[in-house]
Amino acid sequence: AQSRYASIRDLPATARCGSTVCLQMNAGLMADLPSLVGSGAEGVGLFRTELQFLIRNKVPRRSELAALYARVLDAADGRRVVFRTLDIGSDKVLPYMKPQDEPNPALGWRAIRVGLDKPGVLRMQLQALLRAANGRPLTVMFPFVAQFEEYRAAREQVDKAVAGEEKLGHVLPETLEIGAMLETPSLAFAPRKFFEEVEFISIGGNDLKQFFFAADRENERVRRRYDTLNVSFLTFIEDIVNRCRETDTPVSFCGEDAGRPVEALCLAAMGLRTLSMRPASIGPVKHLLRRSNLDEARSVIEDARNRGDQSVRPAIMEWLKGQN
Ligand code: PEP
Ligand code: MG
Repeated sequence: AQSRYASIRDLPATARCGSTVCLQMNAGLMADLPSLVGSGAEGVGLFRTELQFLIRNKVPRRSELAALYARVLDAADGRRVVFRTLDIGSDKVLPYMKPQDEPNPALGWRAIRVGLDKPGVLRMQLQALLRAANGRPLTVMFPFVAQFEEYRAAREQVDKAVAGEEKLGHVLPETLEIGAMLETPSLAFAPRKFFEEVEFISIGGNDLKQFFFAADRENERVRRRYDTLNVSFLTFIEDIVNRCRETDTPVSFCGEDAGRPVEALCLAAMGLRTLSMRPASIGPVKHLLRRSNLDEARSVIEDARNRGDQSVRPAIMEWLKGQN
C-alpha cells in the first residue's frame, strides 16, 4: 500500500488553500523504526513507551531502556520524537504488576496517576531518556493529565531527574520540551496558566472521545454510536485548538482518527496543523489533504453545524464526491 503513495512520500501535505499539515507517525516498537524513512513521516508524534514494558515479563532495566531510546533517536536522525511516559492501567495491564481490582479501569488508576503515586518507574524512565538523548534534543509527554497540578508535579520529576544527571556529570539534552496529552475533557478547561506553562499539547482523541461521549472505546456497541465527525466533538476540538492559539501553545492530534483520511481532513479544517498516525496512514492522508481545500471543508462543516446536523460526515462525503 505504501508504494501507491511513493510519488508523494517526500512532498509536503500542502492543501489547495496553501496550508501545510505536518504528518508524523506513532510508534512504540523497534519494528516501527524503518517506517520513519519509508512512510515519509516528519518525526514521531507519539512514541508509546509502555509497549516496551508490555512485551517483557519483568520491569526493564534503566540501562536497557536508555539503549532502546537511543536507538529510536538514532533512527529518527534528527527528526523530533515525542516520548510518552508509561501509559499503563485501563486496557494496558503489565503481566508483572499487581492487578488492581477496579470496577472502572478506564476511569481508574492509570497512566500519570500511577507515575505520580509511585514515582520509582517514572524517575527511572526519565533518567533513561535523559541518558539516551546524551546531548541531543529531547521531547517528553505525559499521558492522561486531567488537571494542571498533575502536569506541574510530573514536571517536577523531570527537574529532579535533570538535577540528578547534572550532579553525576552526565551530558544534558541540548533542548528539553515537556508536554501533556489532552485526553480528558477537564484539561481543555484548565486555567490559562496551564496553557502558558505547558510546552505543547497533543490531543489523545481515542480517550478524549471516549470521555466526551461517555462511551467505552473497547465496547463496539456503544463506541460506534458516536461519530468522530459529530458536530459537538468537532466543535470541542476546535475550541481546544483556539485556546492553544491564544497562548501560542503548539497543539497536535495523535489519536487513531488522525490516520483516517476524511477524519484527518476535518481535524485539519478545525485548525490542527500537526497530525500523528500509524505510518501506513501517512500516504492516504497526505493524498487527500493535497487535493482538498481546508477553507472549503471548514465551510461545509460550518453549514452542517448551522443546519443542526448530528454529524458532518454526510455533508463532507457529498462535498468530496463533487471534488473530482
Ligand atoms: C489516545 O488516547 O488517543 C492515545 C493516543 O493514547 P492511547 O490510544 O495509547 O490511549
Ligand atoms: Mg490515551
